[in-house]
Amino acid sequence: MATIIDGRAVAEKMRREIAADTQKLISERGIVPGLAVVIVGDDPASHIYVRNKKRAALEVGFCSEVVGLPQDTTMDELKAVVERLNKNEAIHGILVQLPLPPQLDDREIIRTIDPKKDVDAFHPINTGGILAGKYDFLPCTPAGIMALLRAYDISVEGRECVVVGRSNIVGKPMALLLLAANGTVTICHSRTKNLEEHCRRADILVSAVGKPGLIRGDMVKPGAVVIDVGTTRLPDGKLSGDTAFDEVGRVASYITPVPGGVGPMTITMLLRNTLVAARLQSGAK
Ligand code: NAP
Repeated sequence: MATIIDGRAVAEKMRREIAADTQKLISERGIVPGLAVVIVGDDPASHIYVRNKKRAALEVGFCSEVVGLPQDTTMDELKAVVERLNKNEAIHGILVQLPLPPQLDDREIIRTIDPKKDVDAFHPINTGGILAGKYDFLPCTPAGIMALLRAYDISVEGRECVVVGRSNIVGKPMALLLLAANGTVTICHSRTKNLEEHCRRADILVSAVGKPGLIRGDMVKPGAVVIDVGTTRLPDGKLSGDTAFDEVGRVASYITPVPGGVGPMTITMLLRNTLVAARLQSGAK
């Protein structure tokens, strides 16, 4: 039976370290890291995510501002809000909660965020930095997965890594981080032929699709490490990952549960990026 990777425990430990570093920044330099989250409209799931981010920020000693805007906000209005936050010296990290209502162009809004305050690491300057191997921030979910692998002493070097999913926020940056850690990386997507065959070759298999049951036990190499990013709300209200957990757990050496695996790491990496942003903007090491 696979070892279940405890994302909550790893995240808690990292948050304690972030809280200690925050106290140091406050006492030594008088700087309180500030995180602003902008949310447009009234999507209930997005509001829950934003509330969780604010609570997590306050818990580690940051200050946090949530800017709520109406569903019919225009591009000019949203850009003006982001530009005001860019200029606000008490705010070190800015995040615009996605998805945005259809009249708003998320790519243009992300380009409006000052790259030094782009704690989601979605600005083209930051995504380009990841490609070039020079960056201040990493996208939160893939960075959280790398932190989980490190926490469990799982080495990537020289291993076959298969990432299922190629979104800009998870799949593609995940593949780049595994590559940077010297893995041999394959990216699969909805047009991939023989998904099963690719998955069966993986020493480290990351699934970021959002289709419960996609990864079955017979698609996993014995002893593989299986990281499940998928998060789908089922009709009964429960959350499900992409893997058939019991089946895969009998074959894999390590597996992440949903919930309690990758999820808690994502907000943790957002906190870490905000702390890094505050240090960089204040000239602290
Ligand atoms: P996304 O933008 O919808 O991307 C899904 C990817 O899956 C696409 O690249 C798609 O391929 C691929 N795909 C779809 N059906 C497939 C199939 N049958 N076989 C192989 N690949 C297939 O989603 P996302 O934003 O990356 O998120 C993925 C999942 O992770 C979602 O469940 C999301 O809720 C979850 N998530 C969790 C966290 C967390 O913190 N735990 C964070 C972010 C996302 P094409 O490109 O060909 O369409």
